[in-house]
Amino acid sequence: MKVLYVCTELFPFLKTGGLADVSAGLPPALRTLGVDVRLLLPAFPALIAQALAMQAVARLPEGKMPWGAAPALPPASVTLVTLPGFDLPVYLLQAPALYERQGNPYLGPDGKDWHDNARRFAALGWAGATLGQGLDPHWMPDVIHCHDWHAGLVPAYVRAFAQARQATPATIFTIHNLAYQGLFAAAEFAQLGLPASWFDVDGLEFFGQLSFMKAAIRYADRITTVSPTYAGEITTEAQGCGLDGLLRERANALSGILNGVDDQIWNPGTDPLLPARYDETQLQNKALDKRALQTLFTLEPRANALVFGVVSRLTAQKGLHLLPQVLAELVQRGGQVALLGQGDPALEQAFVDAAIRYPGQVGVRIGYDEVSAHAVVAGADVMLVPSEFEPCGLTQLYALRYGTLPLVRRVGGLADTVVDCSLENLDEGSATGFVFDQLSPDGLLSAVRRAFALFRRPDEWAAVQQRGMSLRFDWRTAAQHYLAIYQSLQSDKSPINPLVFGSP
Ligand code: ADP
Repeated sequence: MKVLYVCTELFPFLKTGGLADVSAGLPPALRTLGVDVRLLLPAFPALIAQALAMQAVARLPEGKMPWGAAPALPPASVTLVTLPGFDLPVYLLQAPALYERQGNPYLGPDGKDWHDNARRFAALGWAGATLGQGLDPHWMPDVIHCHDWHAGLVPAYVRAFAQARQATPATIFTIHNLAYQGLFAAAEFAQLGLPASWFDVDGLEFFGQLSFMKAAIRYADRITTVSPTYAGEITTEAQGCGLDGLLRERANALSGILNGVDDQIWNPGTDPLLPARYDETQLQNKALDKRALQTLFTLEPRANALVFGVVSRLTAQKGLHLLPQVLAELVQRGGQVALLGQGDPALEQAFVDAAIRYPGQVGVRIGYDEVSAHAVVAGADVMLVPSEFEPCGLTQLYALRYGTLPLVRRVGGLADTVVDCSLENLDEGSATGFVFDQLSPDGLLSAVRRAFALFRRPDEWAAVQQRGMSLRFDWRTAAQHYLAIYQSLQSDKSPINPLVFGSP
């Protein structure tokens, strides 16, 4: 089976969040199950700079399509490349006018969305859909797996081909975060070259605007998201971001599959970024990583301090606005905080101020840094993830693997992966962390206090660490679930006769 995996980030080449880790972990796991996977990403400078063995494939088709319209996009072509250390073939969509810009793939230097993001990601959708119609005559996907709104137009274009009686691949769309929807002014619709009648409440229209996320939810054959709980939450008004009605309508096509952890990168027994390595049978070295973390974050080198770690984008979603409000008690109880993050300037400033207010007890690094992220995950005792909503969450999964007890809010993937240290759960040996409900300083404090209480019981603490470290959230399991969906989709489809587009 051939699967085209359409996304915008790929670790370690380009990453702004968990999506990059998923793109690095899931496709290789699918390949070990026998799936012939290729990726398609925009040719962002970070990817072009590292690409090897580039081979021109084709220019994107222009001119009227079978349904009578065509996207009005700048000239673009697809190139097949390999990336160092990444075994799967990658198609890069080259359109210098759209992608040759340094920095963040979505935002300009002013921190705002690029003004032409509708065109930039429509082109990605168009490239994905036309690869599905034979753009590369040597490789045609049976299934196109699209990720987040950036790839949201793939299912729409595929559906347009299908309605024009072309044989098409099946499409599956994975929602990594429903809050980012790809909303654009209605006027942008005309240049997409989709059937004019689709700018409608039953199509891509979302309260007068154009929504790439809605396009994907409307037109994909199957929809997944990254945890079973989040799959349920997004069908409710509270968390549906205005799309809950459509998601309820498509409930039979919607499911949740948990993300995995890439064992090559996040494994305390082999992690080359750590000063000391350890595993669940030999936890002593974790103390050396804790000491190193305290040094890195200019915290007092106290072995008995309960160190709370944070590695996060600093956005409202992550619930970290609660943290400054509980710091006084946390520090007074002898705790410390090591926070690595970047994002909202006001939150960044709040944490910089906290580090000044609590010298030696609160250490803050503003920025994005892979080495420091591993230092926090390994060296902290507790990993804080108090999110308002969390589709899956990876940091709590990394923390579990590293014997760092996650302290999380009971939402989305956090609820699916962390078991609270209640007395019952401790007694039956299922506890792996601390879970709280109420999104408030008091809610967070209740869990922080329980963390201090358990920390005074070292044997029980170690048992909880070991339980978390023994769990495996692996990509193979996730890949098996996705493969089952691909297979069910494929059995519904007839063989594909390619449309033939122009040569390179
Ligand atoms: P999201 O995708 O919403 O940002 P996830 O928990 O799914 O949240 O994934 C976050 C990923 O980004 C993890 O791999 C985490 O280690 C990493 N990360 C987040 N912030 C930073 C940072 N400041 N420095 C390094 N890595 C970070």
